[in-house]
Amino acid sequence: MNTLAINGGKPVRDTYLPYAQQWVDEEDVGEVVKVLKSDFLTTGPKIEEFEKRFADYVGAKYAVSISNGTAALHAACFAAGIKEGDEVITSPITFAASANCVLYQGGKPIFADIDPKTYNIDIEDVERKITKKTKAIIPVDFTGQPVDIDGINEIAKKYGLVVIEDAAHSLGAEYKSKKIGSLVDITTFSFHPVKHITTGEGGMITTNDEKLYNKLKLFRTHGITRDKEMLQNKDEGPWFYEQLELGYNYRMTDIQAALGISQLNKINGFLKRRREIAKKYDEYLKNIDGIILPYQESFSKSAWHLYVIQLELEKFKVGRKEIFEALQAENIGVNVHYIPVYYHPYYKRLGYEKGLCPNAEKLYERIITLPLYPKMKDKDIEDVVNVMDKVLKYYRR
Ligand SMILES: *Cc1c(COP(=O)(O)O)cnc(C)c1O
Repeated sequence: MNTLAINGGKPVRDTYLPYAQQWVDEEDVGEVVKVLKSDFLTTGPKIEEFEKRFADYVGAKYAVSISNGTAALHAACFAAGIKEGDEVITSPITFAASANCVLYQGGKPIFADIDPKTYNIDIEDVERKITKKTKAIIPVDFTGQPVDIDGINEIAKKYGLVVIEDAAHSLGAEYKSKKIGSLVDITTFSFHPVKHITTGEGGMITTNDEKLYNKLKLFRTHGITRDKEMLQNKDEGPWFYEQLELGYNYRMTDIQAALGISQLNKINGFLKRRREIAKKYDEYLKNIDGIILPYQESFSKSAWHLYVIQLELEKFKVGRKEIFEALQAENIGVNVHYIPVYYHPYYKRLGYEKGLCPNAEKLYERIITLPLYPKMKDKDIEDVVNVMDKVLKYYRR
């Protein structure tokens, strides 16, 4: 009964529990089908409605829909004026896109170490890494817990930097009782199926600054405008438009926007369930020796995209890899978020070396992401906890 599945025992679960999954219901499907039968498949009324609704939800003046969260970061770097020779500071414990967006613009990502408690970027290390070339900071609200926004904004003001918050994990999160989305210069979101709401692929950028808003809109559609106030030559007629910048086709479709609106209608329920699950994990897992639970700052309210635990490796006979494989064998879809960005071969080729961010590197050796998504049942949560207990008990010294 208690033989580990990896040693030939019966797995605790018969079916595999993924670490994340979307929740799309019949109502969502209906909204998408309506658009498919309408006149507009791309950039129609649903895009405008989604942007308006999203801006209202996060409390921002402007929202720009875009093809995905990576394109959102790319557009944000463009709007911030990042160009060749510029340095931009970000966290190594994030998805590669948070740093790749700087490279797209010809800039250089600089990695600041993380705070070993919150795993978010360490503000003091950010300040140490500022040079004359630094133009922007891209903090990431890792797992859904907001970074210290006041601290980041203070440094940005002191050195004249733009702040681009990668909020791919933190839709609906709150910092000092205010929603993430209007607290820095530019905030970016992702609607990949593992995130809080989904449009298949999709993203959103929010800002309160009209100039940034206009640049973001231009970038999303080839750098082309029909806006008479922006034209540099005389309006030659009703067909006339001008390309003012080198932009991309990063547009979201109306089909996706319809799904996005329908999903946004359910965001409060999604967030409530995510927070409930995190609380249950906290309660149940604190009794299992050998793990460090996620630390939460008192001034913020996480959106709980991920539940990341740390193994106290000194207490076990084996390493993280063996424990990870044993958890997987029990049909629990554990994961690791993230491999430090500069470990990737592409970044090595650019000259980044191990040793840059010691706290991030140590954390990476010890973390495991447990399944967390609104559609999880209480029974699923219990399975995860029982498996953790079973596996860690077996391997504990
Ligand atoms: C998901 C994610 C992105 C990229 O979003 P896509 O929509 O997949 O392009 C960027 N940054 C972080 C931290 C993410 O988790």
